[in-house]
Amino acid sequence: MSEASFPEIRDSVRRLCADFPGSYWQAKDRERAYPTEFVRTLTEAGFLSVLIPEQYGGSGLGLGAATAILEEIHRSGCNGGACHAQMYVMGTVLKHGSDAQKEQYLPAVANGELRLQAFGVTEPTSGTDTSRIRTFARKEGDEYVVSGQKIWISRAEHSDLMVVLVRTTPREDCAKSSDGMSVLLVDMREAVGNGLTIRPIRTMLNHATTELFFDELRVPAANLIGEEGMGFRYILSGMNAERILIASECIGDGRFFIDRASAYASERQVFGRAIGENQGVQFPIARAYVQVSAAALMVDKAAALFDAGEACGTEANMAKMLASEASWYAADQCLQTHGGFGFAEEYDIERKFRETRLYQTAPISTNLILSHVATHALGLPKSF
Ligand SMILES: Cc1cc2nc3c(=O)[nH]c(=O)nc-3n(C[C@H](O)[C@H](O)[C@H](O)COP(=O)(O)OP(=O)(O)OC[C@H]3O[C@@H](n4cnc5c(N)ncnc54)[C@H](O)[C@@H]3O)c2cc1C
Repeated sequence: MSEASFPEIRDSVRRLCADFPGSYWQAKDRERAYPTEFVRTLTEAGFLSVLIPEQYGGSGLGLGAATAILEEIHRSGCNGGACHAQMYVMGTVLKHGSDAQKEQYLPAVANGELRLQAFGVTEPTSGTDTSRIRTFARKEGDEYVVSGQKIWISRAEHSDLMVVLVRTTPREDCAKSSDGMSVLLVDMREAVGNGLTIRPIRTMLNHATTELFFDELRVPAANLIGEEGMGFRYILSGMNAERILIASECIGDGRFFIDRASAYASERQVFGRAIGENQGVQFPIARAYVQVSAAALMVDKAAALFDAGEACGTEANMAKMLASEASWYAADQCLQTHGGFGFAEEYDIERKFRETRLYQTAPISTNLILSHVATHALGLPKSF
């Protein structure tokens, strides 16, 4: 996002984030604890409901505004990963849900009463090949009975509702491998202990991610979103928003690293002068700035296409790839600029370094993006 867009929103986000300094995030990181206070403050300020239309109690802004919010959160040294999904998971209900489902859920998501920030797609055996998911929902009367397993489902312990992708027709019985999958809205408050077990996974960053075990979990058929068998298409449309928003977090991270590296390089005196006077120190920071600025233009373009209702799959993927690589390069150079101090917890560099590395793998890995660009934009033959 251009740093000049949405100045008032950016300014309020920056002021809000100033109350959550590095020491707050360091303590959470050490304990792998959920940043409840930060998420509550963002919710109360209305920043997580910007994509919800006004008729359902949100502010009805576009993805452009949402990218400005997440970018500023990350530029401030905070992390939106604990709650960014509250912004966009509701898009599946908004775009594909019935009027009754929208009325039932969206106003409560908008005011923060309901946390809809878990999105269950990935499974341990299928990996990125979503068509091979095995979690199966069989219809019994007016219920679905769900059995299977999901992995890396973030914020499941901090969500009241979860959008989950299941198979409703076996893959071998479908004309296309992406047919036969459906989206269910699972009420976690009823499900946990009644067929759903959540197991937290400790990772290299503080991300509240989990493994889910479904054992004959009963979900009302009324919680099916859209049509049975169409779920893969519904999930794909939500993924573009997710990729663009996560790209904006990478832009924020990149700018955080560049701000910190520039400040440190100007202050730190070695051999009787600021280390930033050496081109060997300043060029990598300048290169990081060039890369982050270029990636931000692609994030802008993808968000503008999304907000105009136009196809943006390739741009969303390119934005995520460019931004995640730019933030990682900036992270590495920022660490290098800080010398030994970059490794000290109190500087926040090592934490943000670990955090920004995730985005080359999740929500989609770089190779899969290149494969999309090769086959969709360039018309090269498909490899799978
Ligand atoms: C912290 C964290 C949070 C996450 N949160 C969520 C969440 O909330 N919800 C959710 O559903 N998922 C979530 N994920 C899952 C994430 O989306 C996946 O990890 C990611 O898409 C990669 O899938 P995979 O781990 O199955 O890797 P795999 O598909 O097993 O791939 C492993 C590696 O092989 C490469 N590869 C695979 N196939 C090919 C190919 N044909 N050609 C070239 N290279 C290939 C990949 O690029 C990757 O580098 C999360 C993951 C993490 C780590």
